[in-house]
Amino acid sequence: MTKYEDGAGFDPAFDPGFDPGFDPGFETRAIHAGQPADPRTGAVVTPISLATTFQQSAVGEHAGFEYGRTGSPTRQALEECIASLEGGAHGLAFASGMAAEDAVLRALVAPGDHVVIPTDAYGGTYRLVSQVLAPTGVEWSAVDLTAPNDLTRSLPENTRVVWVETPTNPTLTCVDIAAVAAAAHERGALVVVDNTFATPYLQQPLALGADVVVHSSTKYLGGHSDVVGGAVVLTDDDLAAKIAYLQNAVGAVPSPFDCYLVLRGIKTLAVRMDRHCENARAVVAMLEAHSGVANVLYPGLATHPGHEVAQRQMRDFGGMVSFMAAGGEAAAVALVAKTRVFALAESLGAVESLIEHPARMTHASAADSPLAVDPALVRLSVGIETAADLVADLRQALDAVT
Ligand SMILES: *Cc1c(COP(=O)(O)O)cnc(C)c1O
Repeated sequence: MTKYEDGAGFDPAFDPGFDPGFDPGFETRAIHAGQPADPRTGAVVTPISLATTFQQSAVGEHAGFEYGRTGSPTRQALEECIASLEGGAHGLAFASGMAAEDAVLRALVAPGDHVVIPTDAYGGTYRLVSQVLAPTGVEWSAVDLTAPNDLTRSLPENTRVVWVETPTNPTLTCVDIAAVAAAAHERGALVVVDNTFATPYLQQPLALGADVVVHSSTKYLGGHSDVVGGAVVLTDDDLAAKIAYLQNAVGAVPSPFDCYLVLRGIKTLAVRMDRHCENARAVVAMLEAHSGVANVLYPGLATHPGHEVAQRQMRDFGGMVSFMAAGGEAAAVALVAKTRVFALAESLGAVESLIEHPARMTHASAADSPLAVDPALVRLSVGIETAADLVADLRQALDAVT
């Protein structure tokens, strides 16, 4: 019996060594949820369990695992941990964020159904919906989700899914999750939140009314630029069973080693996020004062259009910062090649600081689409190096092009 066949799901419980009444905080769950000490050896670290098959004492009688694609001990530890952090009943780990998104969308939409994505959705989400799902007969549209008053009207009758990202990539637009959930539910649609940028430490979409959370665990959850992974968290038992069925049937599962790396990253998520936020604040203060910068996009700024929403639904404002180079595209392209501590690279959410030019890099495929990015925009993933080093590095690069 796999973990969902009995319909019971699993209890996102904590270390069975804890008292039943113990209500552990976020950091405690990040380190212990799904990861009791190994009962045979007492090892305090969840073993990387490489077995692809598990012995049965009689036909169908086993300790909960049969075959490595269907489920494995290290993956189960990760799935229970991430479910606990997001406050959901079910966690499912995937080989990438895109594999997680694919499983969620396959479970939720059929030909003739409509998917609403945000006007500035992650490029991979846009590609999956417009190039992979649309040819199968799934309808879609891109909607500005920051205007929830008119939202129900802008959702077609056959909307099945409203896909939310907040803050978005790369403009850091913030969407009111509770308001979108209310409008979507009125339409009979479900809300999926891509919580990659915020992480469960800064934002808890399920508590705000979302139905499903997805992650690219390649980013902050893993946190060290050394593993590609994805995750889904939700509370509905039937939908969880459907996604778990697809996880096994399609097979885009993470290896035990990948699961271990994400679990290891999650243990320090809270302290890393605190430092990402603190360093981002220092970087933003410098950018705001520099004449080479036309405009800083950061939800922590009172001038940012999403500031109030972010303040309401996030613990802090995150480690992603974007800005417009005053010298336009030429200055933006020149400056991203001039930093020394910030590495010029795609991706985000790890300990090291990264800088990139979205219009020509991460968002190049969105050129000529509704998701095209301003070519003067520079995106920073502010890491956890010494704040003064990051500030000085960006300042010298800006000075050189200003
Ligand atoms: C990276 C990313 C994804 C896709 O995840 P992969 O692990 O690269 O497949 C989805 N959403 C957001 C917001 C991302 O940053």
